[in-house]
Amino acid sequence: MKIVSVEALHLRLPNIEEIADGTQDVLIIRIHTDAGITGIGEVSSQSYVCKAIFEAPRSAERRHGLANLLVGRDPLEVEDLWRYMYHQTNRYGRRGAAIHAISGADIALWDLRGKALGKPVHELLGGAHRTSVRAYASYLFGDTPAATGALAREAVDLGLTAVKFGWGPFGKTLSTDMAHVEAARRAVGEGRDVMVDAGCSLTVASALERARLMAPLGIGWLEEPLSQDDLKGYAELCRQSPVPIAAGEGETTRWGFEDLIERGLHVIQPDVAICGGLTVAREASAMASAAGRRAVPHCFSTGVNLAASLHWMASCADGDLVEYCLRPSPLMRELVRNLPPLVDGRVAVPQAPGLGIELDEDVIAEFRV
Ligand code: MG
Repeated sequence: MKIVSVEALHLRLPNIEEIADGTQDVLIIRIHTDAGITGIGEVSSQSYVCKAIFEAPRSAERRHGLANLLVGRDPLEVEDLWRYMYHQTNRYGRRGAAIHAISGADIALWDLRGKALGKPVHELLGGAHRTSVRAYASYLFGDTPAATGALAREAVDLGLTAVKFGWGPFGKTLSTDMAHVEAARRAVGEGRDVMVDAGCSLTVASALERARLMAPLGIGWLEEPLSQDDLKGYAELCRQSPVPIAAGEGETTRWGFEDLIERGLHVIQPDVAICGGLTVAREASAMASAAGRRAVPHCFSTGVNLAASLHWMASCADGDLVEYCLRPSPLMRELVRNLPPLVDGRVAVPQAPGLGIELDEDVIAEFRV
C-alpha cells in the first residue's frame, strides 16, 4: 500500500472570538492510499501556517513540506514515518508548528493502519485496558464566585465526576482566586474532583501561596501556574507544592515530555493534535507511568482529537481520564458524525477499525476556508 495524496483541510468558523477556545479554527488532515483507504487526523495550531507546512514543495535536505515527504511511502510504517518527517523538516522544525503539523499526519497514519489491519487504534497502541474513559470538562471561571458556582452545578447536572476551572479572572488577587476556587469546590460537592488551570498567570511564590490554600480543599491539580518555558520554576514549585502540578498542553516531542518529567511535573498533559501525534503521546505516557506520574490528555478542539485521545487512554493501564470539550462549535459537535457522547461522566472508546470516526462532508463544505 502506498500513500497517493495528502489533504490539509482548513475549517474555520465565520467569527472567531479572542478566547481560549480551540474549536473555532482547525486543520483536518486526510491521507489517501492506492488501496482506497483514507486516514483522518487533526492539527490544533495556527491552521494557515500548518497548512503551508503540509503543502510546501520539496526543498533542500531537511527543509521539505510534509505532503511531498509522505506521497509514495508505505503508510503502515507509522513510527518510521514520524522519524522521517521529523528529520526532513528539522531545519525549520524540531518544535512548534512543524511538530503540530506532524501530529495531524501521525494521527491519520494510525487511523489508516487500524483500518488496514481491521483493528481499533487502541489495540495497536498497547491494548484495550478499558472500553470507556472517565471524562472531565473545562470551564472558564465565571465573572463572580457565584457565577463559577453555577457553572460547577451545571457540570454536576451533566453527570461529570471531575471539573476543571481556569483562565478568566484567575491570577490577579489571592482573595479573588480563592473565592472562585472555594465556590467551585463547594458546588461540585464531595466525591467529585475539581482541578484549577492558572493559564500561566502566576510566579513560583504566588503559585505556592495558592497551592497551600488549595490543598485542604482537595484540589486535583494546579495546571500551568507558570510560563510554559519556566522549567526551572516548575522544578522549584514541584518540589514544594502540596497540590499536584500539571503542565504540558503546549509541549512537543518525547524529549519535551522527558524534560517535564525530570523537572518533577506530577501530571503531564500532551495534546495529541499538538505534541507530535499518538506516537509521541504514547511515548510520553509510558515515561510518565515509569516515573510514577500521570498523563492526562489535553483535548479541546474536534471529535478527531477526542477519538484519538480516547484510543490513547484506552491503551494505557493507568489512563482513566480524558478532557471532554463542551463548547457549542459545530467543528466540535458536528464535524465527526459519530462523536462519542458523554454518558454518566464517561465516554465510550470507539470500537470500529482505526479511530472509528466518520467526518460530515456537509460540515467540511460549510466551514472550509
Ligand atoms: Mg490548560
